[in-house]
Amino acid sequence: MNDHRRLGRELGIFDTDPLIGSGLPYWLPAGAAVRKAIEDYVHELERRNGYLHVNSPVLGKRELYERSGHWAHYAEDMFPPMRVGGEEFVLRPSLCPHHALVYRSRQRSHRDLPLRLAELGGMYRSELSGVLGGLTRVRAIQLNDGHVFCAPEQAAAEVSAALDLIEAAHDRLGIRAARYRLSLRGDGEKFVDDPAMWRRSESVLRDVLRQRGRPYDEEHGEGAFYGPKIDIQIADPAGREATLSTVQVDYFQPERFDLRYAGGERPVMVHRSVVGGLERLVAHLIEVHGGAFPAWLAPVQAVVLPLSDAESPAAGELLRRCVAAGLRAELAPADRGSLGARIRAHRLVPYQLVVGPREAASGRAAVRLRDGSQAGEVPIEQLAAQSRPFG
Ligand SMILES: [Zn+2]
Repeated sequence: MNDHRRLGRELGIFDTDPLIGSGLPYWLPAGAAVRKAIEDYVHELERRNGYLHVNSPVLGKRELYERSGHWAHYAEDMFPPMRVGGEEFVLRPSLCPHHALVYRSRQRSHRDLPLRLAELGGMYRSELSGVLGGLTRVRAIQLNDGHVFCAPEQAAAEVSAALDLIEAAHDRLGIRAARYRLSLRGDGEKFVDDPAMWRRSESVLRDVLRQRGRPYDEEHGEGAFYGPKIDIQIADPAGREATLSTVQVDYFQPERFDLRYAGGERPVMVHRSVVGGLERLVAHLIEVHGGAFPAWLAPVQAVVLPLSDAESPAAGELLRRCVAAGLRAELAPADRGSLGARIRAHRLVPYQLVVGPREAASGRAAVRLRDGSQAGEVPIEQLAAQSRPFG
């Protein structure tokens, strides 16, 4: 069984330090490389699907969260306010309020919709230290977030388009959903009390799910405070479930922030996260792939292995060409041990480029794959193309 906490440290993905605090892991070089590959991929996927990217601060005034409803319904998961001068600031528990204000910053007409905003940004949760560990329960989350502001009649199509993006990303990442869950309101003060609003948003999500013909379960009490969610659940090796990707329909925050288009019409907010928080995603990827990531995600995509010291100059030149072609590559010099030992040490690297006397003379490399098979001489440009998520 792959435990992401053990494997993540072994692979140099992340670590923690009590001086920083529990639930606040930091990314080591291999982890930062994986994370950047995911960020670039998702950014490009969103760009190709009509999203505009924005950046907004990780904190805001307490009044912002009173307006959004977080203060009334979500305060127990938020860090306490920080007093600066006469004002109070809060580390944000979500990106939605900032995006609502981005929407409100300009006049919007019907032809501006749907307006799809996306951001990879920090959000914070005041988890108690007792439940923290590894990358799955953290206090600082890098969230792939996005909000589609659309006319009511566009909402169903936008929910379905978001599910298309999620399914495409899961396919590329090598992830399989454990199940789809329609998460509904529960009892109590955690949920906005407006039954008509909930009926309306639930019916949009239910219709899309039925239309797509995918089985799903309905569960009460798992919705957001402002609306229902389609949650795409993943499971760890022990069968413990967590939510990765999500799509939500929200009539509440457009009301609270008095969002408008075409003078008086009220837009709908479709909240969606294609891959969720990067911490949870990478924890899951470590467990699913056991460290043998797809080539486009691998921290090191190519390792250059000279047979002996005589091939060192040719190996160095090959490494330079790999790096220039965009590959994350490194050298395993001959003085680090036998070829077999060096291959074992780099067994998770997708492309192992062996340089013997023949290859040194030709300026090429014999490519060995992770499963031990030989791919023959492959041009570096082709390896680089195979190591990109969009080819
Ligand atoms: Zn949101």
